[in-house]
Amino acid sequence: MYSLSRVLTVICFLLNLAVFPSVYGQSLDILKQKLSAIAGPEEKLELLLSYQSDIATLDLQQQANYWFLLASHQERGEQLDQAIASYSQAITLDQAYHQGPSVLQVESLLERSYVRYLQTYDTRLYCPDRKQALEQARQLNQSKLLVKVLVRYAFCFKDFNADLPRGLALLDEAIAIATNNQLSPREHAMIYNASGLLYQNYNVYEKAYDFLNKAYRQWASVDDYQDMFNMQFTLVDTAINMKRFELAGKHVDTLFYLARTQKQFKDFTFFSHFGAGRLAFAQGKFNESVAQLLLTLQQRDNTGEVYFVRMAYESLIVSYFRLGKLAETKAQLAAYQQAFPEYQTESLEILAIKEFLAGNYSAAMAQFYLRLDQEVEQRRDFVLRSTSTTASLFNVNITELDNKILQQDLQINALQFDKEQEQKRNAYLFLLLVSFLAFALVLLSWHLLRTRKIFRYRAQTDHLTRIANRRHSFETGQQMLSQAISLNQPLSLIVFDIDHFKQVNDTLGHETGDQAIVQVVEKSKECLRKQDQLGRIGGEEFLLLLPDTRQEKAVEIAERIRAKVATARVGVEPESIYLTVSLGVVCVREEKNLQDLINRGDKALYQAKAGGRNQVVGD
Ligand code: GH3
Ligand code: MG
Ligand code: MG
Repeated sequence: MYSLSRVLTVICFLLNLAVFPSVYGQSLDILKQKLSAIAGPEEKLELLLSYQSDIATLDLQQQANYWFLLASHQERGEQLDQAIASYSQAITLDQAYHQGPSVLQVESLLERSYVRYLQTYDTRLYCPDRKQALEQARQLNQSKLLVKVLVRYAFCFKDFNADLPRGLALLDEAIAIATNNQLSPREHAMIYNASGLLYQNYNVYEKAYDFLNKAYRQWASVDDYQDMFNMQFTLVDTAINMKRFELAGKHVDTLFYLARTQKQFKDFTFFSHFGAGRLAFAQGKFNESVAQLLLTLQQRDNTGEVYFVRMAYESLIVSYFRLGKLAETKAQLAAYQQAFPEYQTESLEILAIKEFLAGNYSAAMAQFYLRLDQEVEQRRDFVLRSTSTTASLFNVNITELDNKILQQDLQINALQFDKEQEQKRNAYLFLLLVSFLAFALVLLSWHLLRTRKIFRYRAQTDHLTRIANRRHSFETGQQMLSQAISLNQPLSLIVFDIDHFKQVNDTLGHETGDQAIVQVVEKSKECLRKQDQLGRIGGEEFLLLLPDTRQEKAVEIAERIRAKVATARVGVEPESIYLTVSLGVVCVREEKNLQDLINRGDKALYQAKAGGRNQVVGD
C-alpha cells in the first residue's frame, strides 16, 4: 500500500517532466512521446535502453534527466541493481552540470535510497543518501522538497537503537516549515504519519496513535481515501497494541465503511476483513478470527500485497489450531503451501504446527519452545525499548523544560530590566518635575517677594517725590520716638512748608507747582545724613526725622535746608519764582506720642510763617 503512494509520487514527477518539455532536449521529447504511446512496461524499458547510444549527444543536464527516467522505469520493473546504477549516473551527470545541489539530484538520491531500502532494509546502507539529500535540500530553499527529505530522513531513526529524539527533531522542523509556508494537508499528513510510525517503532503507542489520527484527519480533509484507509489500518494495530480493543473495533468499522463507499479501491475489502481478523485474534476470539480471515482470503485476488496474504494464511492456520480444529488447520496449511509453493515461512508457530500435524510431537514442542523464547525475547526488548525511549524522551523533555525555564528567566530579566529602566525614567521624570516645581516655587516666591516689596514701597512712598508718604512718615517717626526713649537718645524733628505756594500754582500752573515740590525735596535731600528720614505729610508740607540729634544740630540742619531751597527757582524766565520754605524745629522732651511732638513742631512752623517766612524757628 505504501509503495503504491510512493510510485504515484514518481509518476507525478515524471508528469512534471512531461509538462515542461522545453527544459529538455528535442530527442528526449521525442523519446517521451514514444514512451507514452507504448503500454507495456517492458517495452518501455526496451525503448529507453535503445536510446542509450544517442544520449551522449545531449548536454549533461538532459543526459541526467534521461538516466533518471530510465532509473524510474527500471525501479518499476523491479530491476533494482540497474535502477541504482542509473540513479547514480543521473546524480554524477547532474552534479557535473550544476556544480552544486539540484532538485534532480535530491530526487535521485531519495529514489536510490528507496531502492537500497527495498534491497537491504538496512539503515546504514540506505540512509547516507538521505543525509546527503537533506544537505542539498537545505541549500535549495524549496520548502516542499525540504519537508519531503526531512520526512524520509526521519525514517532513518526508526530503529530501536537509533536516536528517536533526533528523528522527532527532524519532523518538528518539517512541521515548522510546512506551517510557515502553508503547505498542503498532504505534507502535514506525511509528517504526522512519519511521527506516528517513529513512535510506534519505539512502542510509544499513545503518541503514535495521536499522530496517526492527526495524519488521518489531514488526508480526510483532501478526500485522499487511499491514505485515509492506510491510516485506519495502522490505527487498528496501534489500538490493539494499546489493548484498547473497543477503539480498534471502531477503526475496523471505519475500514469497512471506506470499503463500502469507495468501491474503486479493490483491496479495501481484503484489508477490512484482515483488520477485523487481527483484532479478533488479538482478543483470543478465534472463531471470529477464523471467519474474518476466511473472508480476507476470499478477497486475495484483489490485492498485490503478497506479504499480507501470507500473514492472513498464517493467522488463519494458528486460529484453527487454537480452536483444536486439526482437519481445518491441515487443509489451510495445504492451501497456503499451494498458494506460495516457493515460500519458506519463518513463523516458528507455523513450523511447530506443521511438526505437530506430522506427528513429530517433540519437534513440535521444541519449535513451540523456540517460539516462546522468541516471544520472551521480544517482551524483554519491548520493556528495554519502552524504558530507554521513555528515558530519552524524558531527557528531551527535561532539556526542553530547561530551555523554557531559561527562556522564562531571560524574559523575566528583560522585564526586570525594563522595569528598572522605567523606574529610573520615572525617578528622572520625578526629579525633573520636582526641580521644575522647586524652580517655579522659587520664581513664585521671588515674584511674591518682589511684588510685596513693590506694594510696600508703593504703600510707603509718595508717588510725586519718591520720599516717604504721610502714613509711613508717622509710622517711622513713632518707631524712632519709641527707640529714642528706650535708648535714652535725643530725637529731633523738623516740620516745614513751602511759602506762598498758592501763588506758584496760580501764576505758573499746577504742573510747575508739582515741579516746585520735587525741587524742594531734591534740595532738602542734599542736606540729610544717612539716618535722617524725610517724608511728605501734606501737599507742600514735609516732616524730617533726625534720630540721635539734639535741638542745636537740628536747627543747624534746618537752616541748611532753608538756605539750599532758597537757591532753587521754578518756571521759565521772565516768570520764574524763587522758592522758600519755613521750618519749625523741635526735640523730644517728655512726649511719648509723635503727634504731640508734631503739634509742637507745627506751632514752631506757624511762628516761622508769622515771623515773615523763609526762616527757622526752634522750640
Ligand atoms: P503759606 O505761605 O501760608 O503756606 O501760603 P500758601 O499759599 O502756601 O498757603 P497754603 O499752605 O494754605 O496753601 C497750600 C496750597 O498748595 C493749596 C493747594 O492748592 C496747593 N497744593 C497742595 N498740594 C499740592 C500739590 O500736590 N501740587 C500743587 N501744584 N499744588 C498743591
Ligand atoms: Mg501749607
Ligand atoms: Mg504753604
